[in-house]
Amino acid sequence: MTKDKPILVTQSSLPPFEEYCKEIAGIWETRHLTNMGPKHNELEVGLGKYLGVDNVTLYTNGHLALENMLEAYGVTGEIITTPFTFVSTTNAILRSGLMPVFCDVKEDDYTINPEKIEDLITDRTSAILAVHVYGNVCDDDVVSKIAKKHNLKVFYDAAHAFGVRKNGVSVATYGDCSMFSFHATKVFNTVEGGALCYKDGAMKPVLDSYKNFGLDASKDYSVMGGNAKMSEFHAAMGICNLRHLDGEILKRKRVFGIYASAFDGVEGIKVCVPPADVEHNYAYMPVLFTGAFNRDDVFDALAKENVFARKYFYPLTNRTTWFRKNFVTTQPTPVAEFVSDNVLCLPMYAGLSDGDAERIADIVLKSAKHRREVL
Ligand SMILES: *Cc1c(COP(=O)(O)O)cnc(C)c1O
Repeated sequence: MTKDKPILVTQSSLPPFEEYCKEIAGIWETRHLTNMGPKHNELEVGLGKYLGVDNVTLYTNGHLALENMLEAYGVTGEIITTPFTFVSTTNAILRSGLMPVFCDVKEDDYTINPEKIEDLITDRTSAILAVHVYGNVCDDDVVSKIAKKHNLKVFYDAAHAFGVRKNGVSVATYGDCSMFSFHATKVFNTVEGGALCYKDGAMKPVLDSYKNFGLDASKDYSVMGGNAKMSEFHAAMGICNLRHLDGEILKRKRVFGIYASAFDGVEGIKVCVPPADVEHNYAYMPVLFTGAFNRDDVFDALAKENVFARKYFYPLTNRTTWFRKNFVTTQPTPVAEFVSDNVLCLPMYAGLSDGDAERIADIVLKSAKHRREVL
């Protein structure tokens, strides 16, 4: 429990150094560095097995996977989404020339509120892009039923939900297509990377083409693709990290347990406890502060002790300087705003020690008492 070494909100998982070296050694013989090499293909197969899906396409990163997805699936016009997410979700929509229409989130788990979707549907709506924010599972049954009724595609930003299952079913099977991010800060990482998981196997050559300049099987270019390929070195990191993933998630669960029991029953502190039918990945430790606790005060109290929490997700994606400069938000999302103003993500990673988690919880709890003394 050194106070002088800063504790950041996350710390990337890495395999043992020798394991990674062994994994990449063969590359010096094949000289196959990228362009859908053997490591890339092995990781696609491995992820399909782990996530319980037939179709996986790997990408340079999750953001480009989102942009490729929207283009390859031919999404047009308006797309219903939520503003309580990383800015990547909204930017992928806007950069694809589409219009995000913002739906509010649910108070309990901050995912899209399906009851609010139908009011937002117009004759220009072509899809729903919902976010399994913090690994909390969207209400896919209801979302998909609404989509079917209105003939909309269903996409998920599952960047936070790697490995999450509900009733034993992987969330990667939800909707038409789901995006996973393998960024260094995510539960499962390939340094930088991402993937799409999707139902329709016929999309495989289309997606493969979009990520490789539009090159198709006949060596012609039938779509206007870009470059979003995952290299062999990144895939090798993924192959190694996947071997250790279950252990890493268990360690995260232990950290969650320490925080959750420290905060249990404390008024003004709300923790998202996964429902009994969900196998969670404990990707983040979001805590909602109200009453005697003030989010910004908690943040400051932690920073004073060299602990750096993050105001995820603040501002909302429809409240950023860029967004406000370019658009007028017409859809009110009061729940998302409330959560964004009061939530703080505490440090959460597999290597966080019990002692540090206890100390962080302690600082949080004391920050309220201190505030009462001041008042
Ligand atoms: C990380 C993240 C992304 C983007 O993924 P990258 O791999 O970093 O490009 C998109 N959406 C959400 C919700 C994320 O957290």
